[in-house]
Amino acid sequence: MNSIFLRAYPPAQPASGPSYWLPFRNGEVIVQRQEQGVTLIRADETLRTQLGTSEFYYLGTLDGIPCVTCELDSKQELLPTWYTSSLRGLFDLLENSAYTVAAYAAQIIYWQRTNRYCPSCGHAIEATRGTWGHHCPRCGHTGYPPVSPAILVLIHDGGERVLLAHKPGWPAKRYSCIAGFVEPGESLEECVQREVYEEVGVEITAITYVGSQPWPFPHQLMVGYTARYVGGPVRIDAQELDDAAWFQINNLPDLPPKQSLAHFLITNWVATQQLSKDD
Ligand SMILES: [Zn+2]
Repeated sequence: MNSIFLRAYPPAQPASGPSYWLPFRNGEVIVQRQEQGVTLIRADETLRTQLGTSEFYYLGTLDGIPCVTCELDSKQELLPTWYTSSLRGLFDLLENSAYTVAAYAAQIIYWQRTNRYCPSCGHAIEATRGTWGHHCPRCGHTGYPPVSPAILVLIHDGGERVLLAHKPGWPAKRYSCIAGFVEPGESLEECVQREVYEEVGVEITAITYVGSQPWPFPHQLMVGYTARYVGGPVRIDAQELDDAAWFQINNLPDLPPKQSLAHFLITNWVATQQLSKDD
């Protein structure tokens, strides 16, 4: 059965008893070491109060168990069975729903840490009831945790070739989809068209939505598409990429990590092509 995470909003408080506790320290998230892999820390209120700070955020429940996050003092000693990691480092280690909660916690912690004062007048902000929003009692400014959309697009030729790109700093054989941030005033489809033209210089059509994935570094939402190549020579933007090339789907380069949306876009396209061949 899939785990279910139900969100809660301030001023909701967790029920008493055991909870999942997601402490952060110096930008890293802390989890429980197990014989194999890691899991979220199970802690009751006593342990949380003993080691934690006074500022807790109740995020909701994972399969009925309350999830609570907080930021620890940078010098707080940790239990020997705990394991600290960047959020990115837990991508492969935590079970999916636990990673979802950790990613959500990271964004709430980031939001609370970076939004203590009104960005308009500098006054201390106050929490808004029922949301993660902030409100300035002096000038009336309101703000909410940001989500920044970014697109990913797999360019194909309608068949068995895909156009993939290589960024400076990546392992030599790793290639992936074209990606880019949505600009203010731009639709997702316009962004796909623009990024493709800017980064590899080709024209595309049949922009088709495939799926999305939160990417909490610090607060992106990746929105994934496929698009069909129409024409134009591949001409890379040397500021962004150091190579782009067509690959046969039966002879692909190294792909991005398997939990990533980019990996899904590519392997899903390959599977669709193979299925249509079998028909
Ligand atoms: Zn203000």
